[in-house]
Amino acid sequence: MKNQQQYLIILLFFAVIANTFAQKSSTPKKPNILVIFSDDHALQAISAYGSPHIKTPNIDRIAKDGAIFKNMFCTNSLCAPSRATLLTGKFSHINGHKDNRTKFDAGQDMFPKRMQEAGYETSWIGKWHLEATPQYFDYWSVLPGQGQYYNPDFIEMDGKTKRYEGYATNLIADRALNWLQNQHDSSKPFCLVVGQKAPHRPWLPDSTDFHAFDGVKFKMPENFYDSYEGRIAAQKQKMNIVVDQTLDSDLKVKNGTELHTKRMNAAQAKAWDAYYEPLNEQFKQQNLSGKALDEWKFQRYMHDYLACITSLDRNIGKILDYLDKAGLSENTLVIYSSDQGFYLGEHGWFDKRFMYEESFHMPLVMRYPKIIKKGTVINDFAQNIDFAPTFLDLAGIPIPKDIQGKSLLPILKNQKPASWRKSVYYHYYEFPWDHNVMPHFGVRTERYKLIRFYGDGNFWELYDLKNDPNEMKNIYSSAPKQTIITLKMNLKSLITQYEDTEAEAIFNAKLN
Ligand code: CA
Repeated sequence: MKNQQQYLIILLFFAVIANTFAQKSSTPKKPNILVIFSDDHALQAISAYGSPHIKTPNIDRIAKDGAIFKNMFCTNSLCAPSRATLLTGKFSHINGHKDNRTKFDAGQDMFPKRMQEAGYETSWIGKWHLEATPQYFDYWSVLPGQGQYYNPDFIEMDGKTKRYEGYATNLIADRALNWLQNQHDSSKPFCLVVGQKAPHRPWLPDSTDFHAFDGVKFKMPENFYDSYEGRIAAQKQKMNIVVDQTLDSDLKVKNGTELHTKRMNAAQAKAWDAYYEPLNEQFKQQNLSGKALDEWKFQRYMHDYLACITSLDRNIGKILDYLDKAGLSENTLVIYSSDQGFYLGEHGWFDKRFMYEESFHMPLVMRYPKIIKKGTVINDFAQNIDFAPTFLDLAGIPIPKDIQGKSLLPILKNQKPASWRKSVYYHYYEFPWDHNVMPHFGVRTERYKLIRFYGDGNFWELYDLKNDPNEMKNIYSSAPKQTIITLKMNLKSLITQYEDTEAEAIFNAKLN
């Protein structure tokens, strides 16, 4: 009797195992989604976009194996609002997160919620910057606020803060890989966001990369010495490399060494001082002034910013290598993007915010071999409201009607609907904090950009991107009337479509 019972138990055990395997093999596994989202990465600092300054072989690898978007634009060129839009698929005025000063409503509907409900294991590791506690993530570990480059703190799921020894870009990538390898439930598809802090201000490179650009003199943009003629908001900004970057924190001279090494361990501080101190000594002895000093500032800024990207790109390579090794590359959508673009001396600037090309553009490369042909180049307009619906679409989850973006899958499959957008809308709010960039909204078509500034004066700007790609000539008062009427109708229809009532009231005030 006992033997018979044992026999039955063993039989039952094998039946359960067989059934589990049968279920697994009969249900095709949903695609994984891996988003590497950095902070302030200019297209001019990515070789796939033709950077004159740097090689980024790993970002290029994603583009080469998949697609590169040449006309991807953000809806509001700022850190936290861009992340809120990534999560919700909605403009700032709808998701409520217009600037870096407010707390995000993390309880609202967003893509991780839907993915979790559909059986995905969701995770966000690294820069989050939304102040609110992350919701709808099975696992999260995030930097508080902007976070630190050296020995960063992470807020853990128990609410406690833990400090990790090392360089942020390495730690965030390593911790993401550790989650994939050791914590992730591999019976479920994953949706992982790797939020890199780099290359955000104050641009502290990893010691490994101090010498990455030895002997290199970076080319100054032709409009570095912009007089801002005919552009009032550009005259008011405080984001000029020469005027507004600080010699201590930003440019690492004066007390900058102590300022940044304060947080480092002895070995990190020693490496830092060994690199920066002789250069700073040389700088002091040169006693530069005028254009020579401006040039020095530009070179130091570029060195530090690009060295941060060298580390970022290397860590992207580490993640791609792991996916290959683990056999995950075939079934994983890999995306690299950044919350917005950035100025590398164009108009004399650093930072972002303006609807001008360098900060309005977002880098976007993605790879998913099952759908995307190698070397695909996409010139159609995309915006960061499209991330959430694209992820949901790929996962076979219905896209909620109130999402304002569109799935990019048809574009990626070369099946662009005739109704696809022919212009993009933008609205920036944060003023006057930090950089004194006036609030503005506008429309960009293939050829033109019409911008309405408000908040500290009311005026329009118009650029012909074909004849003036650097946006140096505001032709609002000289352009043909019909061009302006057509663009205003276009803008008005986008304002209505996206339900931006604040912009609508300003638009209707007719101050011109
Ligand atoms: Ca940013």
